[in-house]
Amino acid sequence: MEHRPGFCAPLSWNCRIAQAESPDISLVPAYLRSFAGVSLRRKAMTDQPKDPKSEQPKSESGFQYSLSNLRPVTPPEKITLTFPDGARREYAKSTTGMEIAKGISPSLAKRTVAMALDGELADLNDPIDADAKIELVNRDDPRALELIRHDCAHVLAEAVQSLWPGTQVTIGPVIENGFYYDFFRNEPFTPEDFAAIEKKMREIIARDKPFTKEVWDREKTKQVFRDKGETFKVELVDAIPGTEPIKIYYQGDWFDLCRGPHMTSTGKVGNAFKLMKVAGAYWRGDSNNPMLTRIYGTAFAKQEDLDAYLKQIEEAEKRDHRKLGRELDLFHFQEEGPGVVFWHPKGWTIFQQLIAYMRRRLTGDYNEVNAPQILDKSLWETSGHWGWYRENMFAAQSAGDEAEDKRWFALKPMNCPGHVQIFKHGLKSYRDLPLRLAEFGVVHRYEPSGAMHGLMRVRGFTQDDAHVFCTENQLAEECLKINDLILSTYADFGFTGELTVKLSTRPEKRVGTDAMWDHAERVMATVLREIQAQNNHIKTEINPGEGAFYGPKFEYVLRDAIGRDWQCGTTQVDFNLPERFGAFYIDHDGGKKPPVMVHRAICGSMERYIGILIEHYAGNFPLWLSPVQAVVTTITSEGDEYAKQVLEQARRAGLRVEIDLRNEKINYKVREHSLAKIPALLVVGKKEAETHSVSVRRLGSDGQKVMTTAEAIAALVDEATPPDVRRMREPA
Ligand SMILES: [Zn+2]
Ligand SMILES: [Zn+2]
Repeated sequence: MEHRPGFCAPLSWNCRIAQAESPDISLVPAYLRSFAGVSLRRKAMTDQPKDPKSEQPKSESGFQYSLSNLRPVTPPEKITLTFPDGARREYAKSTTGMEIAKGISPSLAKRTVAMALDGELADLNDPIDADAKIELVNRDDPRALELIRHDCAHVLAEAVQSLWPGTQVTIGPVIENGFYYDFFRNEPFTPEDFAAIEKKMREIIARDKPFTKEVWDREKTKQVFRDKGETFKVELVDAIPGTEPIKIYYQGDWFDLCRGPHMTSTGKVGNAFKLMKVAGAYWRGDSNNPMLTRIYGTAFAKQEDLDAYLKQIEEAEKRDHRKLGRELDLFHFQEEGPGVVFWHPKGWTIFQQLIAYMRRRLTGDYNEVNAPQILDKSLWETSGHWGWYRENMFAAQSAGDEAEDKRWFALKPMNCPGHVQIFKHGLKSYRDLPLRLAEFGVVHRYEPSGAMHGLMRVRGFTQDDAHVFCTENQLAEECLKINDLILSTYADFGFTGELTVKLSTRPEKRVGTDAMWDHAERVMATVLREIQAQNNHIKTEINPGEGAFYGPKFEYVLRDAIGRDWQCGTTQVDFNLPERFGAFYIDHDGGKKPPVMVHRAICGSMERYIGILIEHYAGNFPLWLSPVQAVVTTITSEGDEYAKQVLEQARRAGLRVEIDLRNEKINYKVREHSLAKIPALLVVGKKEAETHSVSVRRLGSDGQKVMTTAEAIAALVDEATPPDVRRMREPA
């Protein structure tokens, strides 16, 4: 994740992903959000003494009689905890997770770093006051990773304050792939300070002091921080709503204001951590406030995980599509067009190959259409976009003073409303369904400038979009058909690693009735089970609340060559939009019925997909996608005439070939074309001209192979056959 100065992230690690991916949640100031989601369910934050009565035996009747006066006393309160294996056990109210772990086995208690109550992580030493599902979380649990990172941020803060007394600490959340902490010091930190800080951090971790929590009085807290000269912390206390407890976490003598939870001690952080970089960040993201130094770090449960991550970063930097896009002359961006791509000939060739591939895949099933780029605002009001999505839209008006009208138009952010208009044109019957309309639709969406990132996040992009209009009975089958198309497409591009299909269900901000959502989610859940049953290499997940505002959706997440996950395809069921536009078909019984609409994209944004492909292939495109498939070049000018003939022949065979007759040394030319990642060089000299042959050099291999020109071209043509075309030719 990239941060720009001034992009303030929340204290809370719970909302870190949401923050990274949808900056529009910042309606609440970031520094307030940390406390907004605190659960009050477990209200006992203070350590309560254990009820001595709970140790006494209980009579059959459920009453207890004191031996001294035989007066009935209240029975000790019990809670029932359900363990992951389904076992249910009773405990005295306010038993802590640590006591439970110790009760099971001392070695389990040693391994356990935290607990989850009804799925929510909590300090292991928290008293449990209500019935709950309990899970004891050990250090290797994926959920512990966030704790390791958050604890590591605290260790970082202590290390910095002990090395540079007087440095003020502010906030230190967990983010994707790591954590950061923002410090205030007159002299900013630099990466040269990292070695000393990391050394101190290792000392603090080795000391292995327990993390202990106290709940403080608000005024006392402010006074303590004021006395320490920690004015930022005083501000943070003020930002905590009055209903929230003020929690302080100690690690030895050092303490921090924190929402928690934490692991049991600093030693649990381990040594698989690393400080990554520094950046400037304004306090609370406001440029009128002081500039802080943000130190980024990362931590993992195991050293090998950290090593793999560092290797992945190194590899990702080498493959960065912005760098390769420049080196391979594929595209550029410039100031006047923020977030919109200038495609150069080579980049556009890749783009066109991708579209040609998709068109072949759609043949027979889909009808390709094209709907207008700008449409009257009223249409977007009907679709719901103007109401729900306006902050992401661009609007346009006639620029001339004498224009006959001053209507507002919106650039389409989605293709769907246009396709509904096409569906509505002409009466449709159930016999016309399913009707599948596809469009390589160019859409524009406003993205904050800080969120944009090369081709990966842009403001103008092309979707390989389609909408399937079908009956409710056809829905499940259509979803499965789309699933097959998506999975085979990814395989054709060499994404053969892990794949995840996620079902996202109803979000808070939505249109449509609960009954519609119930129905859609039920169908999708059935489809998800079927996808999993058919493809056992696919992981499935459910993301509650992450659906589109008009319906639940499937998201397809593919894994690239260096192990990064990218969400690309979506299938979104929509029981709403056709009705909003009054679209219907005539059913068997002669009645009018709104069709079910399925939005689907495979690459998603073609621009982004190409960005992913560039990094996945590290710029070494397979021959069928490569913008220039071969270059014919000469050893000396004696080969020029023959080289031109080879070029002609190769082009006639359908290859994308260029010629290089420059009067340069052959080694120089070979090196240059290899840097440009040209897959094949056809080298000719006097001898080759006489024998009608070429010397073939392939990218990435040192050798060369002399072949007749006809053979060489035939081999390249065969290799350049797109995978889908090859599949069609194979005998069934
Ligand atoms: Zn904290
Ligand atoms: Zn759509």
